[in-house]
Amino acid sequence: MERIGHYIGGKHVSGESGRTGPVYDPSTGQQTHEVDFADVVEIDRAIEAAREAFPAWRATSLSKRAEIMFRFRELLDVHKAEVAAVLTAQHGKVLSDAIGEVQRGIENVEFATAVPTLLKGGFSEQVSTGHDVYSIRQPLGVVAGITPFNFPAMVPLWMCANAIACGNTFVLKPSEKDPGASLVLADLWKDAGLPDGVFNVVQGDKVAVDRILEHPEIRAVSFVGSTPIAKYIYETGTRGGKRVQALGGAKNHMVVLPDADIDMAADAAVSAGYGSAGERCMAVSVVVAVGDVGDELVQAISERLPKIRVGEGTDPESEMGPLITREHRDRVASYLESGAAQGATVVRDGREDPVFEHDGFFLGVSLIDHVTTQMDCYRDEIFGPVLSVARVDTYEDALRMVNDNPWGNGVAIFTRDGGVARQFQFDVNVGMVGINVPIPVPVSYYSFGGWKASLFGDNHMYGPEGIQFYTRGKVVTSRWPDPATSKVDLGFPRTR
Ligand code: NAD
Repeated sequence: MERIGHYIGGKHVSGESGRTGPVYDPSTGQQTHEVDFADVVEIDRAIEAAREAFPAWRATSLSKRAEIMFRFRELLDVHKAEVAAVLTAQHGKVLSDAIGEVQRGIENVEFATAVPTLLKGGFSEQVSTGHDVYSIRQPLGVVAGITPFNFPAMVPLWMCANAIACGNTFVLKPSEKDPGASLVLADLWKDAGLPDGVFNVVQGDKVAVDRILEHPEIRAVSFVGSTPIAKYIYETGTRGGKRVQALGGAKNHMVVLPDADIDMAADAAVSAGYGSAGERCMAVSVVVAVGDVGDELVQAISERLPKIRVGEGTDPESEMGPLITREHRDRVASYLESGAAQGATVVRDGREDPVFEHDGFFLGVSLIDHVTTQMDCYRDEIFGPVLSVARVDTYEDALRMVNDNPWGNGVAIFTRDGGVARQFQFDVNVGMVGINVPIPVPVSYYSFGGWKASLFGDNHMYGPEGIQFYTRGKVVTSRWPDPATSKVDLGFPRTR
């Protein structure tokens, strides 16, 4: 069985802890790799490599850092298909989707190439006679990223591109379910000319995460994953004095008003509900049909479902691949059972799709209608190809449903009424809003993050807030006086 190990100080190293976990090809159900789980000693080694690399890296000129970012960007672009192939093999997403993931990751690197401009400070001349004040932003030191299974290339790039461009050194702990892409990224960083120790990868589970959280040398932790773990990471990390941004789970609503174009709304709901088998934190999970739009909308969505081609990610015909593990597939399918038992109507049951019988972790596209907020299929994040439809009478009811939900990652509204859309944008308690756009993932020069249980911390991820997160401000007050004017003055500094 091929092993997936760590990358420490510019070298691939095998794990020594004796603990490993299985990595599957979700489309065949076969185990393809064994991933090493780091113990405390190995984590400490990676952090030490990053600590040693920090002084020289932070002293590296902005132009040189930008040059490496540009080279890394070019290499990622050239090797896009190779990275995508690893994603498809270990995550299961279809190749076109995997390429799309890498492309969005590349855009985060493109943003980071602008680091000389992004780190410009402020300068105020003559704040008092002969005194100037200026602000600068400096890197934090060794920072860590802990990432989920669903975007094994893009989410690490959300973090490491900005962190490294800002002058930090980085330790990545990828998901143990599909860890392969992290090592391809490591090789590309090296080929781009990044000095050894600036980017490190440690594979592992809770043991690795807990060591990262308690290690005094780690200054900041970026996390993306489920809400309970995000909360744990935030609470534990901040208790230890670290800066933490922890992005959690989601339950994304798509509100469809009676004036919406039904075909367009149905296309959007199907694309955003089943793309990547629903394993996106920005996937539409609940369609909220307002007024009398429900029947027509459910009909339009249902008509589209038999046409979706579910199959192996490597098959160019496939539009939707398998789920990440058999356990997760079965958990997702269980919401069809509980939804029906709790009074919802199962319009399409993905367990009846022949793919369900395959050895791979497949579930066919599934649709549940007449879902209410008390049902488990509404209350839980399903994270699979099960789309719910809830029906409400008015816009106010729809808004209340979204705002009462504990999560607040993404939301979309479909309407032809600009005034209502604007009011929605004003009222809704969600971090990322789409107006006739079902998956409103911000471009790399804005920042990504939800509200409520979808994000713990003050800074959203990547973009300008990423730069903020990975640097700390320093303000310098300076004068170059004539020594002859010097005198003792115990008064408070004056500006006038
Ligand atoms: P997860 O929370 O199970 O795992 C995320 C990371 O935490 C992994 O690296 C894992 O090894 C580690 N981890 C797991 N259990 C841990 C524990 N008990 N202690 C310490 N570390 C632990 O999430 P996942 O299943 O890999 O990813 C899916 C989840 O991520 C979904 O909830 C999804 O909504 C969320 N997600 C959110 C965003 C966002 O931007 N808000 C983006 C992508 C995914």
